[in-house]
Amino acid sequence: MKFRIGNGYDVHQLAEGRKLILGGIEIAAEKGLLGHSDADVLLHAIMDAMLGALALGDIGKHFPDTGAEFKDIDSKILLKRAYGLIKDRGYTIGNIDSTVVLEKPKIGKYIPAMQRVISEILECSPEDISIKATTSEKLGFVGREEGAVAYAVALLENLRT
Ligand SMILES: [Zn+2]
Repeated sequence: MKFRIGNGYDVHQLAEGRKLILGGIEIAAEKGLLGHSDADVLLHAIMDAMLGALALGDIGKHFPDTGAEFKDIDSKILLKRAYGLIKDRGYTIGNIDSTVVLEKPKIGKYIPAMQRVISEILECSPEDISIKATTSEKLGFVGREEGAVAYAVALLENLRT
């Protein structure tokens, strides 16, 4: 079996009047993430990790933020397309580990729902999708509640080789 590993990183600004969409679900919050799509920073980091594992570039290359078809798009649709790209090459998800850095709200209670949503799209078990959440201890732009960051690593397995 052949393995490939990739890492992903993403940042989005927080803004008033936007819904907070994280890990494919909506979370009650005062501010939401700003972006061309729904700005789901976690799904974007996960997609970049998957694409990076196969040296396919990043999500900006596949889903450009100048593309009208991607305006306010649900990032779950993009995740499904990114998964299609790796599946076409014979790969499946081994496991994913990720971290969201967000000052508030606390998102721990939403993590099982995010794992379910993501694992359904990626045709794996929720246990293969690790999501961790932390704050920035009030330091920097995350600490000032100006934005959120997500990191992810993805291990892909090729069952054909
Ligand atoms: Zn993004």
